[in-house]
Amino acid sequence: MKFRILTLFPEAIKPYLDSSIIGRAQTSGIINIEYYNIRDYSADKHKRVDDTPYGGGYGMVMTPQPLYDCFNAAKKDLFGKTLSIYMSPQGKLFNHETAAKLKEYENLILLAGHYEGVDKRVLDEFIDEEISVGDYVLSGGELPCAIVVDAVSRLIDGVLPDSECYENESIASGLLEYPQYTKPADYEGRSVPEVLRNGNHSQIKKWQRQTSLKTTLLNRPDLLKTAKLTRDDILYLEYLKKSK
Ligand code: SAM
Repeated sequence: MKFRILTLFPEAIKPYLDSSIIGRAQTSGIINIEYYNIRDYSADKHKRVDDTPYGGGYGMVMTPQPLYDCFNAAKKDLFGKTLSIYMSPQGKLFNHETAAKLKEYENLILLAGHYEGVDKRVLDEFIDEEISVGDYVLSGGELPCAIVVDAVSRLIDGVLPDSECYENESIASGLLEYPQYTKPADYEGRSVPEVLRNGNHSQIKKWQRQTSLKTTLLNRPDLLKTAKLTRDDILYLEYLKKSK
């Protein structure tokens, strides 16, 4: 999959996406990320990319010309299913379902805004979808772009060793994941639960399922409305609610 990121600050995203799993996915050619520095496309002799808003108001707005030219450059030579996204607090909230939908595209063009945002004509001309990463306002769309690239890439075949890696994780599985422990078994007076050390596979599975249900009930009870639950799960949740 190809990602093309339009931003005024590529240096704010690139180090993150060049690291760890997403960095390796690029090296192995499973994904390709290109950065388009919007300022490079400004026809202004001082390379300006923003101006004051019509109608007055606080702050600056990103002007159409550099963005039109930047978009046209980013769209060039792209073949296959392409979606252009503006990262915006006004967009639809990003979640696992959206990431899974985006994974089906061959190319994603992501626009990171800055200042007070982007001239609306750019959005009308180029943008298919607006996506928000949460109900708060960030200074720029760079972190949101990195979030979308990371979350989508993890779902692409070959990025993680096995699809089970993400299918069993929090949210994707429908529940929050059980707590994780590693060696040593005892550390600073805190021990790994005995059940995880006794090698009894069915007891371990039961413990994982029950702690997963308990964490979900405590932190994200809304997920339980749509999670696939067995009769044993429902009985355990009823027991937890009664023993609160
Ligand atoms: N004036 C805009 C508004 O009220 O909707 C907010 C502009 S914000 C300071 C600057 C840029 O950060 C936006 O253009 C957008 O690209 C990005 N941004 C900020 N918060 C975001 C969020 N929650 N999700 C996605 N992008 C966000």
